Amino acid sequence: MTQPILTLKDVVVEFPGLRGLKGLMAPPEQRHVQAVAGISLDVQPGETVAIVGESGSGKTTLARAINGLVPLAGGEVWFDGMPLHERPDWHAVRRRVAMMFQDPSGSLSPRKTVRDLVLEPFAIHGIKLNDPGAKAADLLATAGLGPDFLARYPHQLSGGQARRVGVARALALDPAMVLADEPTAGLDVSIQGEILNLLNRIKTQHGLTTVIITHNLNILRHVADRVAVMYLGRIVELGEVEQILSTPAHPYTRALMAANPEPDPTARHERITLKGETPALNARPSGCEFHPRCPVARPECAERAPLLGPTPGAGQVACHFPIHKDETNNA
Ligand code: SF4
Repeated sequence: MTQPILTLKDVVVEFPGLRGLKGLMAPPEQRHVQAVAGISLDVQPGETVAIVGESGSGKTTLARAINGLVPLAGGEVWFDGMPLHERPDWHAVRRRVAMMFQDPSGSLSPRKTVRDLVLEPFAIHGIKLNDPGAKAADLLATAGLGPDFLARYPHQLSGGQARRVGVARALALDPAMVLADEPTAGLDVSIQGEILNLLNRIKTQHGLTTVIITHNLNILRHVADRVAVMYLGRIVELGEVEQILSTPAHPYTRALMAANPEPDPTARHERITLKGETPALNARPSGCEFHPRCPVARPECAERAPLLGPTPGAGQVACHFPIHKDETNNA
């Protein structure tokens, strides 16, 4: 196996748990909550890894931590041999690690034309172009937009078109890796399909390493090679996309799969409906933190926290009683 381009080792991100006087009076362990609670993950060059989970699972915070937008409280992040946990030159790092933000319309300056927006990364990094107009048109073409969009402003773009401008901007500096936060959020299903096809084409043509943060499991089916499932800031299952889709081993993964439309009837899973809400970060349940919502929990689950270990397949799962293949399909 080649050297990973991205390595996360026990990454922890904390936020203040209680504010004001209450925070000052609280015992030290309650002053902070862990939004990311010890994530370890390797990403290979050219690989697309999807990080999935409900909102509040810590997946967006993890992406922001990788790109230095929130500080680490612990652990290490290595990108292409560089220790990003040791105060790197973020300006230089961001030339090679592009971020696609969740709300492209909100992240595009309303006063700039699409041409200026697409060329902005070059200006930020002080890169002079011989023919900026041609470069902007080229980048738009890669993202599936014609040159007639160059003179438009963000308010003249649909959600899908704004997303494509976000893709063009992300690819502008020919990055080695893209962190894409919910690339299909807020789009109609048909437009989601177009954006997924675009991401797939870019992945094939540019061999880009991509980490996609999503709660849209169609992304898994279309573009991901591997999937990490997060719950309360931890990875509870990790594996190849086919394996996770056909034989999810963690009850939480299985519930997520069952909650999403499944185009392949042979991969239908017994329906698991999740009980209740994700617990608050300052009220983590004992033992397995999923146990209050788990439909197959046993008494010992509340006492012992499961560690991420090998599944009967080739993946990893954090569960004392993982689901086996013959329990998965009920077709
Ligand atoms: Fe459910 Fe127990 Fe597995 Fe946790 S350890 S997911 S509670 S079966």
